[in-house]
Amino acid sequence: MSKKPNQAFIALGSNLENPISQIQQAFDELRQLPDTCLMSHSSLYKSAPVGRLDQPDFINAVALIETHLAPHDLLKALLDIEHRHGRVRESLNAPRTLDLDILMYSNVKCHDKTLTLPHPRMSQRAFVLKPLFEIAPDCHIPGLGHIAPLLAACQEQKLEQMSA
Ligand code: ADP
Ligand code: MG
Repeated sequence: MSKKPNQAFIALGSNLENPISQIQQAFDELRQLPDTCLMSHSSLYKSAPVGRLDQPDFINAVALIETHLAPHDLLKALLDIEHRHGRVRESLNAPRTLDLDILMYSNVKCHDKTLTLPHPRMSQRAFVLKPLFEIAPDCHIPGLGHIAPLLAACQEQKLEQMSA
């Protein structure tokens, strides 16, 4: 495969059934995706739930992959991994064994029934921006600009860095 791969950033989140190992296992599953290399991943972070407060804290991380999968094929592969982790889709902001979101896929902008790129809520969430900043401090988010001012704007959101 000679064509240059696309860089994609994936947000990982879990707050059920041993979240730390859910995330670590998901890193391994990203490593095993076809036509894809896991290039790096952030530390794990602990965050308080957003929107619905009566649920456990979340463990979050961000990974950088290089992939030849097209955006919708990548999304399908990620939803398959979530499914293998027993993910049940209840409602927005509900607790989950594993959530895998595509934050960005190269400079692609997309908005259709199943996929929005960049991810529509990433710019207001410290639990996404902080781990993203850790692995890509110079990151430009298509349509939103440099990551640093976006992260500065949500500094009041509490986040605990757990491990390297
Ligand atoms: P959330 O991650 O917002 O809590 P879900 O994980 O339940 O919500 O995702 C619901 C749907 O969001 C998925 O089935 C997928 O089709 C859609 N979606 C749209 N854009 C994205 C994206 N960038 N990454 C992941 N899923 C996305
Ligand atoms: Mg999701």
